[in-house]
Amino acid sequence: MSRQISSLLAIAAVCVTLAPAPAFAQAPKKAPVDCEQVKCLALTFDDGPGKYAGTLLDTLKKYDAKATFFLEGQYVKSRPAFVKRMVAEGHAIGNHSYKHPDFTKSDPATIRNEIKTTQAEIKKAAGVEPKLLRPPYGLADLQVSEIAGEFDMPVILWTAGSQDWNSKNVEAIKKQTMAVAQQDGIILMHDWVKQTVDAMPAIIKSLQKKGYHLVTVDDIIKRHNLQAGDVFPVPAGWSAK
Ligand SMILES: [Zn+2]
Repeated sequence: MSRQISSLLAIAAVCVTLAPAPAFAQAPKKAPVDCEQVKCLALTFDDGPGKYAGTLLDTLKKYDAKATFFLEGQYVKSRPAFVKRMVAEGHAIGNHSYKHPDFTKSDPATIRNEIKTTQAEIKKAAGVEPKLLRPPYGLADLQVSEIAGEFDMPVILWTAGSQDWNSKNVEAIKKQTMAVAQQDGIILMHDWVKQTVDAMPAIIKSLQKKGYHLVTVDDIIKRHNLQAGDVFPVPAGWSAK
């Protein structure tokens, strides 16, 4: 018996020696994308983690694309495993309130509580605290930016939307996304819209074919040296502090 085991071990040892090393074993760590050198674009997904987040994460992984998820505390609480996976797979996460009230119609205590409880829920799920805030509906005013500042976060809006929540149509979502894609753009999408998740393989393939590197919002804003409370991109008509 022991002879058998040792000859099996010997065979196994030979196999291990002869087998080529798996590609990932020796692969050098990939250099981060430099958006000053290449064409970058950030896809952002709001209101999640949505119920299709798992499929979306599979697609992003398959095409080596990164995304940013602006999460709602209430769904982080009900779907913590997705949040853990987002962080583990190199995506960025941001705070998108707990229950999605319009911050411009909320009192300061409510806004602070919405942000704080979501930070705590994300920390519990994935061990990290987001450093980006996207207020519900992308609506910000001076009060919102000041409170974001208290939490040491910039306010991140978007350069264009995919209109996915409106069309709920695979072809329309792809068409709109391709139409608004631009260098260093930040595009609004939603992982609770099934058609968005269905459209994603085709969208990513088309964007990559056009030379876009799909990166996180952090990669896009790196060069802008945003301070806590800054709003980016600055909306039309925004009056600075
Ligand atoms: Zn939202």
